[in-house]
Amino acid sequence: MIVIRGATTIPQDDKEEIRKAVAELLDQIANKNMLLKDEIVSIVFSSTSDIHSYYPAKAARVAGYEGCALFSSQEPDIEGGLSLCIRVMLFVEKNLDPRHVYLRGAKCLRKDIAKKINVAIDGPAGSGKSTVAKALARDYNILYLDTGAMYRACALRALKEGANIEDEREVVDALRDMELDIEYRDGVQHTMLGGEDVSEKIREPQVSMAASTVSKHASVRMRMAEKQREIASKMSCVLDGRDIGTFVLPDADFKFFLTASPEVRAKRRYDELTAKGYTVDFEELKREIVKRDEQDAGRALAPLKQAEDAVLVDTSDMTIGEVVAAVKKQMQERI
Ligand code: C5P
Repeated sequence: MIVIRGATTIPQDDKEEIRKAVAELLDQIANKNMLLKDEIVSIVFSSTSDIHSYYPAKAARVAGYEGCALFSSQEPDIEGGLSLCIRVMLFVEKNLDPRHVYLRGAKCLRKDIAKKINVAIDGPAGSGKSTVAKALARDYNILYLDTGAMYRACALRALKEGANIEDEREVVDALRDMELDIEYRDGVQHTMLGGEDVSEKIREPQVSMAASTVSKHASVRMRMAEKQREIASKMSCVLDGRDIGTFVLPDADFKFFLTASPEVRAKRRYDELTAKGYTVDFEELKREIVKRDEQDAGRALAPLKQAEDAVLVDTSDMTIGEVVAAVKKQMQERI
């Protein structure tokens, strides 16, 4: 006996919506698993407590799934859980590798059966990458890896060691026995350098430019890319950076390239830094951002570039909510 799972959502608690959503979910499960109706032994539904107007089991019968045992139940309320959601478990008498189906924003809560997905989000500084990546990681219940933080930590270490950061050999020497660890506490990434939490220090403006300089060196990039690939090979995650879709994970399941005008990006960074208490000059920040873009786009190995198969999103005139919605829409269509 094999078990296939799935879930979907409805826009409102309405009999017709339930019938439509259940039929769509069961038909997709049947199609994706190449199932015949008489191979299904039983179907068990559970729905969130905000659904009252119709039994999903009845909707299944109406949709033609009447030859098997059907059962519906109600889930207890869970804080932060998805609302208006119908989950299903199909028991089938067939030897197959189950393909679970999640539609209309419903997500698989079981990480052990969910397909591993890697999402690459690249783009220049201030394009909205990290905000979008964090939102995706939260909504899909997967890890967020900020790869810029790793280059920033390298830069911090090289600066601390007094290395000439333009000189690859000096940088390599400074990073030789560096202990760089990425830890997660309550879902938040902490960048640890030699046991010290440097998550805040690496955000200081002078570290940004230094990170761009040290990341030009091939030996630094290869070392960091290897670490990033190792993490991505083990679990579902969203990685943001400059070269994720082109170099680190060319086979990522989803690739996005975010961009925005230098003016808008500088304004975002300005607001971010002033909110943290830094005194910054807007024009100088804008010049620095443009210079960093040029340096990132001009380096020989893995420059800042849109992957051919990445979806381009210009975020200049979009709110963050709109960008997240646009990215999720693209993903949802293929998940
Ligand atoms: O994204 P963030 O501004 O934190 O990145 C700091 C610098 O690290 C970038 O300007 C870029 O030079 C470098 N970087 C990179 N490749 C990545 C991520 C960041 O070269 N994947």
